[in-house]
Amino acid sequence: MRHTTLTDGSPVTPDHREIDPRTGQQKAYVVLSAEERAKGFVRPVRTSYVHEKCGSTTTMGQALAETYARDPSFYSGTFCCRCRAHFPVGADGEFLWTGTQEKVGT
Ligand SMILES: [Zn+2]
Repeated sequence: MRHTTLTDGSPVTPDHREIDPRTGQQKAYVVLSAEERAKGFVRPVRTSYVHEKCGSTTTMGQALAETYARDPSFYSGTFCCRCRAHFPVGADGEFLWTGTQEKVGT
């Protein structure tokens, strides 16, 4: 099992997936630990993506972006700031990296 933390580097909590009704976002998000991310990236570090369904761009923090770059299949879904909900990523997912035709999570 690879070492994971929350985005601020703190330990993963059992309730981190709880949705905040004000934002639609999870209470917190899991990332690969800084040590794990430092082992190297297999994709560029990209901090924004487009939701194909609504056309909106969502940006994310550095730790999340680096986790995608280290392990593109780490997440099964991600958040859209316009739809205020999570949708699938991957080859059959709903998101493209900004300015590309490349699916998030591939
Ligand atoms: Zn959307």
